[in-house]
Amino acid sequence: MCDHIERRGVFPLGHLAFAYLSYVAAATLTRRPLPASWPLVPLAFGSQLPDLIDKPLAYYGVIVSGRSAAHSLLAAGVFIALVTVVARGMRRRTDSDHVLGRIGAITPLAFAIGYLSHLVGDSVQPVLAGNYADIGFLLWPLIEAPRYAGDNVAPWIRLLEMYMQPLTHPNIPVIVTAAVMFVALRVWAAAAADFTVRGPH
Ligand SMILES: [Zn+2]
Repeated sequence: MCDHIERRGVFPLGHLAFAYLSYVAAATLTRRPLPASWPLVPLAFGSQLPDLIDKPLAYYGVIVSGRSAAHSLLAAGVFIALVTVVARGMRRRTDSDHVLGRIGAITPLAFAIGYLSHLVGDSVQPVLAGNYADIGFLLWPLIEAPRYAGDNVAPWIRLLEMYMQPLTHPNIPVIVTAAVMFVALRVWAAAAADFTVRGPH
């Protein structure tokens, strides 16, 4: 197994964990229900979509950088608007108690948080390092996106190499924090439901 992947940046599990923590923070601040089950699907999809588009396109030379078109604020706006229109349509055609109606109600916010948290996650390290040119992808196509050494490696090879050596994963703190938060909230929700049904013991 070659050792040419850079163990820096944010990998899929790191993006997923950061998206989850971002959703928990947003839901807490706006007093919405905390994420569980269905909202996690558009949240997870949004948190991976920029890389699902840009990494393969850069590897095959269609675009110049693995953080490019889909990592821009322009693409974020377009995708969030599209998802919002589709979700509203789903909501209108079903009643609010139907599972599709409930998914349609929660999808735009969950998808937007997932997508935007990906862009924030990819920007944190360059900003902390003072490399502001490395977040030029946010303003694509006004600013040409920077090219990365990892763009020459097939994305699936990068992921395979990384996850074959999970302890070298650069996002372990955020992944562990999100996992602990997820389990704690599930336990808390189960205890609260038990209290509601049976009352105080
Ligand atoms: Zn990315």
